[in-house]
Amino acid sequence: ALLVRHRMRSSGKWYRAMAILKEFEEKCGTPILKLKQVADAMDVEMHAGLASEGGSKLKMLISYVDNLPSGHEKGIFYALDLGGTNFRVIRVKLGGREKGVAHQEFDEVSIPPHLMTGSSEALFDFIAEALAKFIDSEPEAFHPPPGRQRELGFTFSFPVRQTSIASGTLIRWTKGFNIEDVVGQDVVGELTKSLEKIGIDMRVSALVNDTIGTLAGGRFHNPDVVAAVILGTGTNAAYVERAQAIPKWHGPLPKSGEMVINTEWGNYRSSHLPLTEYDDHLDEESLNPGEQVFEKLISGMYLGEIVRRVLLKMAEEAEFFGDTVPAKLKQPFILRTPDVSAMHHDTSPDLKVVGNTLKDVLEVSNTSLKTRKIVVEVCDIVVTRGARLSAAGILGILKKIGRDTVKVGEKQKTVIALDGGLFEHYTKFRSCLESTMNELLGDEVAETIVIEHSNDGSGIGAALLAASHSQYLGLDES
Ligand code: BGC
Ligand code: MG
Repeated sequence: ALLVRHRMRSSGKWYRAMAILKEFEEKCGTPILKLKQVADAMDVEMHAGLASEGGSKLKMLISYVDNLPSGHEKGIFYALDLGGTNFRVIRVKLGGREKGVAHQEFDEVSIPPHLMTGSSEALFDFIAEALAKFIDSEPEAFHPPPGRQRELGFTFSFPVRQTSIASGTLIRWTKGFNIEDVVGQDVVGELTKSLEKIGIDMRVSALVNDTIGTLAGGRFHNPDVVAAVILGTGTNAAYVERAQAIPKWHGPLPKSGEMVINTEWGNYRSSHLPLTEYDDHLDEESLNPGEQVFEKLISGMYLGEIVRRVLLKMAEEAEFFGDTVPAKLKQPFILRTPDVSAMHHDTSPDLKVVGNTLKDVLEVSNTSLKTRKIVVEVCDIVVTRGARLSAAGILGILKKIGRDTVKVGEKQKTVIALDGGLFEHYTKFRSCLESTMNELLGDEVAETIVIEHSNDGSGIGAALLAASHSQYLGLDES
């Protein structure tokens, strides 16, 4: 009798766990109709953001890039790419049309976590030091002629209100950075101060978001690139807009008639988004409550954390991992998206990778196969939602530029450059994104849209933009 009662009790718990899962799955649903509403609302918000400053949660920031690389760029340029947990310093030799990017090298440095929430001076001094070290390794053939400054493209992957191509103030931090004294400051000024302090004579000739760098890098290789999307630690998109479609732009009309816009779509929010209690709590407890709501549903910084929150609820309310709640499971951000990816792609019959991850990361051992299968299901629900919403975002951009339909007889290709770890390394995320795009567009249109992986385009792109905005432009035509 005791055994029977025990079984009944545990099957009651199991039933409760399944109920939590089922409810979560329903709330995360992204049927095509909903995705189309998300895309339509995005299109509407894009218009509003272009109409006036502060007109929408979509900031639609003006990049001051009105000319994308032509392929004729020449010379030695540096780039600095700051935006996630690592930053990179890059040196390229641009060889014009014939030679393209003739030479490139880089150094990657991880940012000590305390610098992400410390002071402006500490962060920029650290970056300047790394850059100085990298310059020391410059081959002699690359040394600038006497009297000439080295030039740098600075990729700074946070929302910035640009005041020119080479200056702009930080609107707010995202992605776990929180250094109050930089907000409202010109980030080029901050970097330049730190460079001067250690005697480096270098000019920042372009300040760009990573989406803008990726767009520029993509365009260099393929003239049909019109938009760029980042799916990594954070998420964002940029695209080429007609200058005349930007009422809030009061500057001179660019010769090209175009202006690249940084949408900052991570901050998009709409009643159509499938938000759950877990997302609400994640947001409330985050460094930036109420901000970056779309990003918190999609990007690599958050997917693992959402999975953790669902598993925690199942552990607390349904003894999902046994009669005690694993202590590690209560620790925010302990489960990272690469862990989720490893579990989600586990093809072993007994889900060994899932078992090991649960043991190594959460210190839960001896999980049953049934339990492991449910964990994979939670990963799948969270990641599928994120990938499908990303596809809806891309559709929103295609709508804005009128590339979501094809006119008869027209064969215009539309290429979107994509980059970021989530897109590059999370196979199931990427394939879900691609199949959802096809589903949303239909066969005929889908054939004209190409999603292209732009590997590390953002750094090279910044160097290309530094070249096209060089102070020495036109001095060495040879
Ligand atoms: C930032 C964007 C950036 C994106 C991808 C977001 O958190 O707000 O500026 O482009 O992350 O790095
Ligand atoms: Mg990046």
